[in-house]
Amino acid sequence: MGERISIDANGVLQVPDEPILPFIEGDGTGVDIWPAAKAVLDAAVDKSYGGTKRFDWVEVLAGQKAFDETGEWLPEATVTSFRENLIGIKGPLTTPIGGGIRSLNVALRQILDLYACVRPVRWFEGVPSPVKRPDLVDMVIFRENTEDVYSGMELEEGTPEVAKLIEFLHDAYGWTIRPDSGIGIKPVSETGSKRLIRAALDYAVKRGRKSVTLVHKGNIMKFTEGAFRNWGYEITKDEFSDVAVGWDDCNGDPGDKILVKDAIADITLQQVLTRPAEFDVIATLNLNGDYLSDALAAQVGGIGIAPGANINYVTGHGIFEATHGTAPKYAGQDKVNPGSVILSGVMMLEHLGWQEAADLVVSSLDKTIADKVVTYDFARQMEGATEVKTSEFAAAMIDRM
Ligand code: NAP
Repeated sequence: MGERISIDANGVLQVPDEPILPFIEGDGTGVDIWPAAKAVLDAAVDKSYGGTKRFDWVEVLAGQKAFDETGEWLPEATVTSFRENLIGIKGPLTTPIGGGIRSLNVALRQILDLYACVRPVRWFEGVPSPVKRPDLVDMVIFRENTEDVYSGMELEEGTPEVAKLIEFLHDAYGWTIRPDSGIGIKPVSETGSKRLIRAALDYAVKRGRKSVTLVHKGNIMKFTEGAFRNWGYEITKDEFSDVAVGWDDCNGDPGDKILVKDAIADITLQQVLTRPAEFDVIATLNLNGDYLSDALAAQVGGIGIAPGANINYVTGHGIFEATHGTAPKYAGQDKVNPGSVILSGVMMLEHLGWQEAADLVVSSLDKTIADKVVTYDFARQMEGATEVKTSEFAAAMIDRM
């Protein structure tokens, strides 16, 4: 019988040996990649702990499958299950066109206030990459998930609402905005910024990382992006001075502490290409983080295998997820790469403290790709590869555990 994961008064997850884990299979290729990922994760846990630990998987519905079975895209029972069981995992979901919900992923993030989008980016030997030294890329991006221009506060050009705001801004602040403008609001709070940067620093401490780079566009947007940077240095001093130090306080030489530095977003996009070894953990705002995580995933050839998680470290809620979409043209063909959900599972195992199982999955993925046993997406770019189906890829990984 499974038990619930809980969080104690110090914010530490309490994970039973048989945690109840809600999962969303996912639409489209979800039917292919979820069973493959589940098989790999179960095998790794079984082999690592000799049967003393196991997942009690509970399917919850969202997306097309939920709509077909219940008439709702995101049934309340699904939200309740994630709320009560704290941690869950999901495949990709169809974004409903029309019908009120902008995106199910965004809805889940907002309902559970999953403020940190965490995206580790590393290279697996043999994965086709467009850059010369993908092996130098080993970064973890912490993207703020609840604020910035993504908060959905936008007014459409030509509406009475936008006209009213333009008039107000003119009267109150003397700002002149063209009358045929649409307007979006970019809120960036101290609360939102600090809790995200705190999560990045905590992660760096726990995982023995060397630096945290605050990526921002504060040279132009001083009171939003610039403030994010300042709050980052402030929290380093106020809460992490025993383990971390800001660049200006150590002239770039942190000794054995974690170095906290900052970089302008546009230059960062150059430097992650030209000097990837200089980046480790990255903490950034919502829009920068969106661009940066996809650009970095491409650098390691990993669009099809990039994992992600959305986490609230205070309440303990976390949903681990495939970062690609449902790839509907391949649905049901047992063809696509299950790597993204599998590596999201690795992130989840690490988050739960089941490091041995996480390491076992990673090493078997390393071996499988090094043996050039891969799905179509890698096979088409690799010489001498053996192309296998989704389910066969999972079996090949399990064989190598
Ligand atoms: P997509 O589903 O990510 O597919 C785009 C392309 O990426 C595919 O055609 C395929 O490339 C490649 N790809 C995706 N998954 C792959 C996998 N597992 N293995 C190998 N290659 C993979 O993007 P989309 O077609 O723009 O979106 C389809 C639906 O997904 C939409 O409803 C969208 O809203 C939704 N979506 C959901 C999420 C999410 O739930 N997190 C994220 C993004 C999009 P090739 O054709 O080159 O082989």
